[in-house]
This record gives sequence, C-alpha cells and structure tokens, in this order.
Amino acid sequence: MKVLVVNCGSSSVKYTLFEMESEKKVAWGLVECIGLPEAYYKRQTISVDEKKDSVEITNHTEAVELIIKDLLDKETGSIVNVNEIAVVGHRIVHGGDKFSKSVLVTEKVKEGLKECFTIAPLHNPAHYAGILAVEKMLPKIPSVLVFDTAFHQTMPDYAYMYAIPYEYYKKDHIRRYGFHGTSHNYVSRRAAVMLGKPLSDLKLITAHLGNGSSITAIENGKVIDTSMGFTPLQGVVMGTRCGDIDPAILTYLLDKYPQYKSGDALNVLMNKKSGLYGISELSADMRTILKATAEDNKRAKLAFEMLCYSVKKYISAYYGILNGIDGLVFTAGIGENSAPVRKEICANLNALGIEMDVKKNGEYSSKERFVSTENSKVKIMIIPTNEELMIAKESKKVLTTSN
Ligand code: ADP
Repeated sequence: MKVLVVNCGSSSVKYTLFEMESEKKVAWGLVECIGLPEAYYKRQTISVDEKKDSVEITNHTEAVELIIKDLLDKETGSIVNVNEIAVVGHRIVHGGDKFSKSVLVTEKVKEGLKECFTIAPLHNPAHYAGILAVEKMLPKIPSVLVFDTAFHQTMPDYAYMYAIPYEYYKKDHIRRYGFHGTSHNYVSRRAAVMLGKPLSDLKLITAHLGNGSSITAIENGKVIDTSMGFTPLQGVVMGTRCGDIDPAILTYLLDKYPQYKSGDALNVLMNKKSGLYGISELSADMRTILKATAEDNKRAKLAFEMLCYSVKKYISAYYGILNGIDGLVFTAGIGENSAPVRKEICANLNALGIEMDVKKNGEYSSKERFVSTENSKVKIMIIPTNEELMIAKESKKVLTTSN
C-alpha cells in the first residue's frame, strides 16, 4: 500500500510518497515559491538523485498536477497508476477545538476546517487550497486530515484556559491548543519502544527544538501540558519568535511607537524579528549562533543562553507537574543535531535525576540513542522526528477503520 503525504504552505507544496509495508519513503520533494517568477520544483526518489528545476506555477492545483505527473513519469516515476495511492494524508496546522483526531475528508469536514481559518489565518487557507487541488487531481483517492493540534486535545481545562474573561473562550475559542503534536506523538511512541515499556506506564517530557520549538508533558500517552498556546508563538525562545513575554510589553509598544498601531506590525515583530535573531541581530540559525558564540560574539552567546534557559525552565516545570519523569526526549533540527544546546539544557539538573553523559551527547549520529549516564534516573533520548511517516500511518489507520 502506498500513501502520499502532502504539506501545503501559502506558497509551497511538500510531499512524500511512502510504501507502507516497509514504512520507507520512495519519492519526496517540494514545489516552492508558487505564483512567483523564482518558483522551482525539487524532488528525489530512492533510485533518482535530487533534481531541481525552475517551473512556472501559479497555484496549488498546478503544483499538485506537476507532482502527480512526475510521480507517474515513465522513466523516473514511482507509480504506474494513481490508483496505487491508497490515501492522501494532509498535514493541517490548526484543528481548533473542532478536531481532536485525524479525519477522512468530507464536505462537512471541509466546512469545519474553514471555520478554523480565523484562528490560523497563515496556515489553514493554504491547507484548504491543497485539499481542493488534491481532490481535483485525484478525484477517486480518499484524503485524511492529520492535525498538529490533535495530540494536545487531552490537556485538562486548567492547563489550556487563559485567565482572561471567559467570554473570549466561548466567543472566540481563545485557549491553548499546542502545536507540533504529530512530532510529539511520534517521538513519545518511539521513546516507549526504546525504554521497553508501554506508553501507558510512562511519564515523558518531549522537547521539539527546531526553528519553532515546543515542550510537551506526557503522562500515560496523554498530553498534560504543552508550551505553545493559542498560536505557535508562546513558549520557549525560538529562531525568530519571542516565546513567552509580558503581554504588557505589547501595549507599551503600541502606545509609544506609531509603527506598532496595528496587530500585523506587532505580529511581525514577535514572530519574525525576535528570538535568536532579535537578540543576536545576526541569525535565526542555531549553527550560525554557535559559531559566533565560539568566536566570542557576546550577543550570540546571550541568545544561545536565553534559548537554553527557557527550555530548562519548561522541563523543570513539567517535571514538577508530572511529579517526576521516566524519559526526556530531544528532537527536530536543534534537538537532534546540536550537542552544545542539549548539554547546556541538561546541565545542573541532577537534582531532578537528569544526568547527561556528555561524551555520548557529543558523538554525532542520525540514529535514535540514549545520552544519559548509566545511573541517571531519567533516561535522556535523542529521537529523530518523522512527522511525514506519522501522518502516513495515521492516514492508513483512518482509511482502514472507515472501511
Ligand atoms: P523547522 O521548525 O523549520 O522544521 P528544523 O527542525 O529543521 O526547523 O530545525 C532548524 C534548526 O535546526 C535551525 O536553527 C538549525 O540551525 C538547527 N540545526 C540543524 N542542524 C544543526 C546542527 N548540526 N547543529 C546545530 N543546529 C542545527
């Protein structure tokens, strides 16, 4: 059985085609800069090396058409007939409080997704366009929606509510939703396998540290709390996002500077100009920050320390909430690859039973592994995330159970 996973952004379509028996990807790629002169198509298969071409693509439907044609290509394609694709899995950033699990696409589901446009204006309209494009190009193939927010729907109300007047929860659905759910879900399952125990017996903290980062407290396979909130802006310090700040800073800026009279300008400030980038005034990329820190750039060092400190605070808070943990998981670009960040985060946490083996932590590998000492009460794991595979598995499950 083959499953096609698509992830549509406002100007991009990414895809991965999986062979589900082996759970291996057979073809993957992306169309970027849709609607712009610099649009390009980059793709690779298990048997054909990466290729990149300029293309003229004005909308998502054309992008999906290009991808399907390429998958069917007589010489380099991975399928002979579109019917080999059993189901298409769509990554959806925001399911609001409407969707607590993955669903098969129906007209009613599409209407529900549309109702979530206002709380995810940057992502959901693009996902919707992608769903329509896939329906047009593959009218006979079912689609499943897999939500970044769904895994977090088990949070108790006292964790997901904000202490603002209750009417805004009722009217505007303002509450914590949490994001990266597919990744937290995937790595928590893998952690259970690594620890040789069922998820239902484990307390875990998972740290997804990429350009966007979030920390999640998981007890018996259920999310208890997560650092991102109503939007992916809340929580730890990120590449260009500020994470937690005193909300009164916004009213101060709004009152003082004419350029911050609009929500848009404040959103750009907090989402695109802050975080590692805003503090270092150098880069949002952790590799550049680490290099500059080694060259004694004080602001890069401060940005690095702020990010690590904010993650350490969440880990400590969630340790308390869970009343102890069995495992701490690092994943995503920084979590998987940056030994100095992991080391700084885990330093001086031995009071919590978190003891890192610094030597193991420093050895590079792209595989799942333990980096805690033999005696560490809490097992520290590095687990490469695989959101696409998780979406493919979810889509297959929904398809099978709906038949
Ligand atoms: P996204 O949130 O966009 O999916 P990723 O999970 O790809 O982000 O993570 C991107 C981050 O990972 C960047 O800050 C990048 O610098 C960092 N990163 C990737 N490789 C390394 C590495 N070898 N060392 C340190 N940081 C790395």
